[in-house]
Amino acid sequence: MGVWESYKRIPVIYKILVGFIFGVIAGAVVGDPITALKPLGDLLIRLLKMIVAPIVFFSLVVGAASISPARLGRVGVKIVVYYLATSAVAVTIGIAMARVFQPGAGIQLPAEGKNITVTKPSPVEVVLNIVPTNPFAALVEGKVLQIIFFAIVLGIALAYVMEGRDERASKAAKTAYEVFDGVVEAIYRIVYGILEYMPIGVFALIGYVVAKYGPGVLGPLGKVVVALYVGLFLHIIIVYGGILKAFGLKLTKFLAGAKEAMITAFVTRSSSGTLPVTMRVAEENLGIRRSIYSFTLPLGATINMDGTAMYQAISTFFIANALGIHLTLSQQFMIVLVAVLASVGTAGVPGAGLIMLAMVLEGVGLPLDQPGVALAYSMIAGIDVILDMGRTMVNVTGDLAGTAIVAKSEGELDMSKWA
Ligand code: ASP
Repeated sequence: MGVWESYKRIPVIYKILVGFIFGVIAGAVVGDPITALKPLGDLLIRLLKMIVAPIVFFSLVVGAASISPARLGRVGVKIVVYYLATSAVAVTIGIAMARVFQPGAGIQLPAEGKNITVTKPSPVEVVLNIVPTNPFAALVEGKVLQIIFFAIVLGIALAYVMEGRDERASKAAKTAYEVFDGVVEAIYRIVYGILEYMPIGVFALIGYVVAKYGPGVLGPLGKVVVALYVGLFLHIIIVYGGILKAFGLKLTKFLAGAKEAMITAFVTRSSSGTLPVTMRVAEENLGIRRSIYSFTLPLGATINMDGTAMYQAISTFFIANALGIHLTLSQQFMIVLVAVLASVGTAGVPGAGLIMLAMVLEGVGLPLDQPGVALAYSMIAGIDVILDMGRTMVNVTGDLAGTAIVAKSEGELDMSKWA
């Protein structure tokens, strides 16, 4: 019991890293016989696929419904526009980084994976296709974008009815909201379970990859880390720096004030966990009034994840490159769309972005049940802890930057802290 208890206390993401390392060693040392364990990896992929549609649907309904129309006054509109726009820019930077660094190129994962037929719909079709003609069919078939669209529409409608004048309807909508909320909690329990299993699945998949293709196959993973960290750095300097500057605020002052929250996010890899620190630095170091940050920061910790969005773009490129698949322009456009929405639906807890990556891959037409996709995904999973630290730090930094400029524009910023 004691051993199990202490095992459970180790953060799962480290256990995944250990599974990854053991997988590499086993693949290299044991060689071919280790491939017999592949079903353990296939199980992981099935579990991930199982959770994608429910998690997207329920978490986005709740996410959309929790932005109350009454609170969505001027501050709300400003911050939501900022949150979505900066996430879209983050994905675009991610795509640019992926094109520069070409992570995953030359890995040549299983040829089976190459059989994925990449359809090339026109951009107009891509957009039109987002609207499901039958939302239930979309759920059944796992059409991610359509599920997202319907979930958001339903969530917004719920929010309106909840705050509407009709008491009966409002009460019923609140009940519905609570049901959705309860389901989301339950789904996250399942996600924790899947994450606990992930070390074993990753071990089996990586063992398979290394046994079949040799340890050299892992070298290109370094490029993922470099591409992401360079992208995150540029995002902070150019995007946050530029926006702050446009509002007459200095990036250096901002970073000096925000650094405690940034470091906490880096270490804990959880935006939600960092929230108390984020709020404190907003008030004490950045001079933002509570009336603003008490709304924008919790919202940001839930829906604004620039780092996660960028990570999803780069990882998607890595996986496509590893299979030798060229992503078309409309697929890249799709990445922007899906990664932004996926980052909205990602919970602010360690490793959540990795689960949502499964959804982005589905959305872009690289489904996880393709063997090559699954193997490349497990490579990303193996090093996710390193990627999670940086992306979470930027997630939190983005919340603070947006909150600072909205506060400034509302005259709710104590400028003495910025002098
Ligand atoms: N760990 C991230 C956060 O809490 C979410 C993610 O995994 O991308 O912000």
